[in-house]
Amino acid sequence: MKVGIIGWRGMVGSVLIERMKACGDFEGLTPTFFSTSAAGGEGPEVDGRRYRLADAFDLDALADQEALITCQGGSYTLDVHPRLRAAGWQGYFIDAARALRMEQDSVLILDPVNRQVIDRGLEAGLKTFCGPNCTVSLLLMALDGLFAGGHVEWVSSMTYQAASGGGARHMRELVAQMAQVGDDARALLADPASSALQLDASVSATLRSEGLPRDNFGVPLAGSLIPWIDAPVDDGQTREEWKAHAEGNKILGSDRAIPFDGLCVRVGAMRCHSQGVTLKLKSDLPLDEIHGLLGGANEWVDVVENSREPSERLLSPAAISGSLKVAVGRVRKMRMGPQYLSLFTVGDQLLWGAAEPLRRMLAILRGQL
Ligand code: NAP
Repeated sequence: MKVGIIGWRGMVGSVLIERMKACGDFEGLTPTFFSTSAAGGEGPEVDGRRYRLADAFDLDALADQEALITCQGGSYTLDVHPRLRAAGWQGYFIDAARALRMEQDSVLILDPVNRQVIDRGLEAGLKTFCGPNCTVSLLLMALDGLFAGGHVEWVSSMTYQAASGGGARHMRELVAQMAQVGDDARALLADPASSALQLDASVSATLRSEGLPRDNFGVPLAGSLIPWIDAPVDDGQTREEWKAHAEGNKILGSDRAIPFDGLCVRVGAMRCHSQGVTLKLKSDLPLDEIHGLLGGANEWVDVVENSREPSERLLSPAAISGSLKVAVGRVRKMRMGPQYLSLFTVGDQLLWGAAEPLRRMLAILRGQL
């Protein structure tokens, strides 16, 4: 199969290539790596072969591919995809960006949760497959068992989202901010006689200083948080918050929309999104049945016992980063009544939140999944 890969050196793209190598996906593929900035230069090395980069704006070279996977971004998709289709290209377009997610002829891909929606799309001849928003994918992976059983009346999620959601440059900026905070406080830290109040004043001064790197986030994230992600939409919501309802229901292929709502917050984690979830069940399911539904829904959900030691050790970005596991814990019934459930979930947003659904879609097209 001839497959073009665009955006392979970005955050999502590089994790995708890493996973494709680890899973042996390049066997039987004829890949072409494209670049928007370095056509003719050196691309990645796969199975001992170093690839040359093709021009990501060369429509003939793109149209020569049976499938394109792009992790380049929405502007690129909106530039290239309509021109390819207008020129009659019939290949599969697998995209990490949000640009085409809500189009009628696109399918949102999260196969452990919605394989039947993907299969229906393929049977209907659809050719555009979009990876959903990372936070929404991780929420649906975590709650798969409750959604699949039709148990959820509504869900509200308060997110703690990592820097990686913004891409490679945002991750670097978070670490650069952390480094500056550390550098400025080094002398105080080394002095056992300094007080925590002096240390706090140093950290606050660094965070408020003009010199703190902030080209990407615009404000400090290290030692702070940002309660706004993406552009404003209606009703005081951000687009990131809006996606939960819009994309969540499209992924599930629900006949009757389930209300999703919440608040999205950027925190200083590197690549794991966490979410504190409140949901209303349609009935008073016993807790052990809920545990069984959550843990049995797909092979990646890991239910963590609601007690201190396992919650601290297993239910955090530090524990989950780089793993395909989606941890779900702190599961308990709420004071509001037996149908109200509270839980906490953590997943690597570059894996199930971004690269893995794209990688698996290619495997589905190749009949390997
Ligand atoms: P990214 O890291 O910014 O990479 C996108 C492109 O930026 C790269 O392919 C590269 O293109 C260029 N680039 C410029 N400077 C770079 C640098 N220093 N390091 C790496 N690449 C650099 O973006 P991303 O986070 O992978 O996101 C790509 C798309 O996926 C976006 O539409 C995003 O919304 C979507 N998405 C992202 C996530 C996420 O968690 N980050 C999750 C789901 C969906 P050239 O090689 O052509 O120059």
